Amino acid sequence: MDELRALSGLVVVLCGPSGAGKSTLVARLRERLPLHFSVSYTTRPMRRGEEDGRDYYFVAPEQFDEMVAQGEFLEHATVHTNSYGTHRRQVESMAEGGSVVVLDIDVQGAAQVRATGADILFIFILPPSVAELERRLRSRATDSEKVIAGRLAVARSEMAQAGLFDYVVVNDDLDVAASDLDAILRAERLRRGAPLTVQRLGLT
Ligand code: ADP
Ligand code: 5GP
Repeated sequence: MDELRALSGLVVVLCGPSGAGKSTLVARLRERLPLHFSVSYTTRPMRRGEEDGRDYYFVAPEQFDEMVAQGEFLEHATVHTNSYGTHRRQVESMAEGGSVVVLDIDVQGAAQVRATGADILFIFILPPSVAELERRLRSRATDSEKVIAGRLAVARSEMAQAGLFDYVVVNDDLDVAASDLDAILRAERLRRGAPLTVQRLGLT
């Protein structure tokens, strides 16, 4: 994997088991903060309520493989039998101009992004319990019983990697989790901007 070009914005990798509430939290965050969402490419079928180009770019496996061959992905992985990938140039152009860019990707993808050594923030979203995760996957009512069982089986091994992340946010009460994320992003932007602020004020 090539490194991302030097970025002026804050790129955030958001990870956590399917059903933990990542999409819900991103939607909440967008109400509070101007942020860009990296729209991944996937070979999985579109779910009810989803939109091509907004939730994902839904592509055929052949097109996905061609994009892999052309090196278009910052990272890509097979998750729950389908392929998913983050478009490198899309992230680069969104990060230009100092924006916050959120990547909702799985732990394999996060490991690939981490290995680039780029200055990226890694946040893990945990459900309050596995039982609650199961309840949320069922209440979302978008997946078959077989798919839900598969997602739960993978969830435990994914959650075991939470310790590798810069921050872990437990999504129990949605308002609290959204506030925690908001606080983390605000603090990280201030931290990263600190040298520039000091320079601007002529203090160096
Ligand atoms: P993910 O994007 O991580 O797969 P979703 O955002 O789709 O998860 O959330 C899974 C389900 O759980 C959705 O039906 C969502 O409305 C619900 N949900 C998300 N956060 C909470 C929460 N804090 N409390 C209760 N239900 C939640
Ligand atoms: P879903 O099919 O429920 O939308 O997503 C399933 C899993 O794929 C989630 O864990 C999500 O984070 C992950 N995912 C979505 N987009 C990408 C991507 O571009 N790369 C990787 N590695 N995982 C992704």
